[in-house]
Amino acid sequence: MKVNFETERLIIRPLVPDDAEAAFRWCGDPNVNTYMIYPLYHRVEDVRTWLEGRDADDPDNYDEGICLKSTGELIGSGGMRYHPERNAWEIGYNIRADQWGHGYTGEYLTALLDVIRKERPVEAIDGIFAAENSKSRRVMEKLGMVYVRDTSFDKLDGSQTFPAKYYRRNLPQPAEHCGVCERIEMTRNGLNPYFVKELETGYVVIGDHQRFEGYTLLLCKEHATELSQLAPGFRTAFLRDMAMTAEAVERAFHPNKVNYELLGAGKGRHMHWHIFPRRKGDTPKPGPVWQVQDMNDDRYLPSAEKLAELKSALRKELDLINPSIILR
Ligand SMILES: [Zn+2]
Repeated sequence: MKVNFETERLIIRPLVPDDAEAAFRWCGDPNVNTYMIYPLYHRVEDVRTWLEGRDADDPDNYDEGICLKSTGELIGSGGMRYHPERNAWEIGYNIRADQWGHGYTGEYLTALLDVIRKERPVEAIDGIFAAENSKSRRVMEKLGMVYVRDTSFDKLDGSQTFPAKYYRRNLPQPAEHCGVCERIEMTRNGLNPYFVKELETGYVVIGDHQRFEGYTLLLCKEHATELSQLAPGFRTAFLRDMAMTAEAVERAFHPNKVNYELLGAGKGRHMHWHIFPRRKGDTPKPGPVWQVQDMNDDRYLPSAEKLAELKSALRKELDLINPSIILR
């Protein structure tokens, strides 16, 4: 996508074929190329061919030229590309070696993120970098990204494979895009009547409809769809908080069985635990709760007194459970 904007020290603009000579200074530099997937360029003409063949209007790819405001010189290129399979925008960049160490990449990508977010929802940014490339790690940390898992990548010509790290940042969404982010925002502003307790990784709330008395949810603080999109420490703590919430539901509401379900396919795709206290004969036939068609009927909205009673019973139990002994 072609965009033009300025940051404190940079001018960002679309790349054009006449940039070939300037771009060759990094495309043809073995130092810059070490951890790149594309092969090293040996001729300016090949860089020109690459620039001529790019689809600069692809709405899922922001790949721009980075120029110094002070001199107007083009010193690098890069941006973000949308990957639908992981619902994230992957960052990528090259900077001429003599311009490394000034924080230009972080300055550019932070501003680019704001530019893209004005156009469409960005639910996550991510990046993969060679494990031994500490400069890239610093760029990702500056963008607020955290380590998620180890991975690897190959050069396009298959000449090398690098052990790599996958980093990611999940971004909170505006209310119109995600119902769970909207509830979290209401909770933080003291406006959610169903709120029970804040845990390390989420918010415990009583379900809006109480067809199954004591139905409770744990809303993940991260706007993420899958457990695999969370940093390992956060993920473990989120599972612990779920176990803790379910145990409190068990103690507070005395069901025959507690059902646990991690969903997040609705508006915004933001995962949240549904915790259902189940009792003998509470559904027409034995099985999951979802067979009950009218579960969200208004007649199952709790009265103010009932809601206060449920919240107080659950909060009392949550306060009694020591998080340090769960999952140990
Ligand atoms: Zn969300």
